[in-house]
Amino acid sequence: MKKPGKSWQESAWRRRALGLLRQDGLMRGNVSVRRRVCGKSTCHCAQGERHEAMYVVYREAGRTVQLYVPKEFEQRVRRWVKRYGEARELLDKLSGVYEAKVRRRRD
Ligand SMILES: [Zn+2]
Repeated sequence: MKKPGKSWQESAWRRRALGLLRQDGLMRGNVSVRRRVCGKSTCHCAQGERHEAMYVVYREAGRTVQLYVPKEFEQRVRRWVKRYGEARELLDKLSGVYEAKVRRRRD
């Protein structure tokens, strides 16, 4: 009789998730780049050439949070957000494996 165990697919998802978690940094949310005016009447943005500012947008306790990202963090935050998204996708796939077990009533 075949022993119950992790499928090849499940093991691959777990390995990839662990690989992501071993790397530095992850952050939930979506990156959003906005163009804004700073309010100084002499600044170029007053002539229509607006400043670009990056935010990470996510939901928390039913509210939308917009976290401003300082310039020096932009590249890192892009990597962190991408990594979180990939890890999240893998966790959702793994969750699906266990949801299926409950539906089949067999572990
Ligand atoms: Zn300005």
